[in-house]
Amino acid sequence: MKVKINISSEIVTKPILAESIVETGVLLNVSQAHFDRSHGEVVADVLEEHFEKIRHALVSRGAVVTRLDTPIELNEDECVDCGACISVCPTKVFSMDKDYSLLVDTSKCIQCGTCVEMCPHNALALINNKHA
Ligand code: SF4
Ligand code: SF4
Repeated sequence: MKVKINISSEIVTKPILAESIVETGVLLNVSQAHFDRSHGEVVADVLEEHFEKIRHALVSRGAVVTRLDTPIELNEDECVDCGACISVCPTKVFSMDKDYSLLVDTSKCIQCGTCVEMCPHNALALINNKHA
């Protein structure tokens, strides 16, 4: 399962990811990470059976952990296959088939929301982001 870990400015300089991994022994497979002075954001895969353990360790250190189990939804009636979403998605969720129809691989979605803003036909939506 995919999770998003948000780290606020107050704790962004602390090694909370490393500490949580060492404490729990739970490995995170990081697919995206962004850190600057104001915040940190990490997207990672973790085994479902290990999620609660690592979640607790991270939350106890001040992080916000969100399950990414509600990926992007495409309204096929609204989509005009313009392809605008393909270039903005950081994880290559979208592609075109040989007939220039949009293909969507929701397993890659990290729920960043970029495509929702970009779609000229409001054909994309994210619902139900849940803080764990
Ligand atoms: S940007 Fe919107 S309308 Fe264009 S291909 Fe993507 S989902 Fe369809
Ligand atoms: S929400 Fe982000 S990761 Fe998911 S399909 Fe849209 S641009 Fe890609």
